[in-house]
Amino acid sequence: MSWEESPPIERICPCGNGHYLVISRSDDWGRFEERWEMQCRSCSVEYGLYAYDSNRKGLATMHYSWLSRVVLQELSIAATELAQSKEALSVYARTEFVERWNRHFNGKTKKNVWRELTEDGKHYPSLPTFYAHVRHSTMQRELDRYFEWHTLPTVARVLELSRSELQSRIEHIQELERLLEAKHSHARQNSVT
Ligand SMILES: [Zn+2]
Repeated sequence: MSWEESPPIERICPCGNGHYLVISRSDDWGRFEERWEMQCRSCSVEYGLYAYDSNRKGLATMHYSWLSRVVLQELSIAATELAQSKEALSVYARTEFVERWNRHFNGKTKKNVWRELTEDGKHYPSLPTFYAHVRHSTMQRELDRYFEWHTLPTVARVLELSRSELQSRIEHIQELERLLEAKHSHARQNSVT
């Protein structure tokens, strides 16, 4: 299993006065990677490499383009802020609601717990998967996992917190996620190759 590197391909850089190199390599397993190296001095001041995944027909492909360093920095700051907000909300939710959450499920059968968590099977996980999770860890740990950011909407639904601060903070973060996605989409359109 060895990587085979193809000879570098020269492409004209965004300013038009120099070039960058695209080096691709692949292995026997059909894996494929690209590396982009800016060779133009003024473009390397102006631009950084912007990498993003696209998923077409279940195949994730990495794409590259050049994006203004200022915009790259903005995207990175926004992503960090979003991650911090999510973490803070997890901590808040756990502090405020974990006791009520545990009390809510106390003494209920596994199947009934699953029913509430998934609205009778409308959401992940399926009943056999849920049983397997509980078997491999514990019910307490499974319930605890719902305080991770992405499953907080389940906590809000089960505990009927639709008009709470928790719910409004969840919605605020969902809005931040949409904004960041819009920024990325804008960045993809404004990046250059
Ligand atoms: Zn250039």
